Amino acid sequence: CGIVGYVGGQSALDVVVAGLKRLEYRGYDSSGVAVLADGGLAAGKKAGKLVNLEKELVGRPLPAGATGIGHTRWATHGGPTDANAHPHLDNAGRVAVVHNGIIENFAVLRAELAERGHELVSETDTEVVAHLLAESFSSCGDLAESMRLVCRRLEGAFTLVAVHADEPDVVVGARRNSPLVVGVGEGEAFLASDVAAFIAHTRSAIELGQDQVVELRRDEGGSGGVGGAAGVSVTVTDFHGA
Ligand code: GLU
Repeated sequence: CGIVGYVGGQSALDVVVAGLKRLEYRGYDSSGVAVLADGGLAAGKKAGKLVNLEKELVGRPLPAGATGIGHTRWATHGGPTDANAHPHLDNAGRVAVVHNGIIENFAVLRAELAERGHELVSETDTEVVAHLLAESFSSCGDLAESMRLVCRRLEGAFTLVAVHADEPDVVVGARRNSPLVVGVGEGEAFLASDVAAFIAHTRSAIELGQDQVVELRRDEGGSGGVGGAAGVSVTVTDFHGA
């Protein structure tokens, strides 16, 4: 329902949670975040209001990182439980994805993944995307390319935002029949389902076109950690066709 992604020099967790709060007016039943830090990926998610997630994160703090994603969910497939809350991860815990919308052909994709040995742990239509991205990434090593390949296999309406622990300076987004806005700041960039999520940081916004993928990449020269961004490049490509 609400989506936020961040790459820059601030604490991604702070930026993402503040962004999600700005999207609260849309209504939601669960929320969650994922942050890339120390070569890994750390996530927290919780059914109920954002305050439940915040309590969870006080009890079990995530490491500080400057790349992250977050989500507030309005359940369509699977009840509003902790397990069904986003982000959804692959089995190795290296990929995290958040999603607005509905993947119509998720049952077919789920069966295929199960046959290839993937263990799906939620009842959502979204979880297949995390597993497909992980598979694709293990052969091409590029999250934006993985997103383009996976999106071609998806039917329905989606805004997707994903991170991979092997690309700690990158956040990737994609959209079809569901909105995604890119915010471009000084040494930082944002993705959100609504500009309200990042308007406190930048007024420079680009709406992603239909069937497009966007990659936010922290430039080399930054230290990669909180306080270390030099600049962030934004690259938009089409996923449809080919
Ligand atoms: N279909 C997904 C789910 O039920 C996403 C719902 C949403 O847009 O928040 O988890």
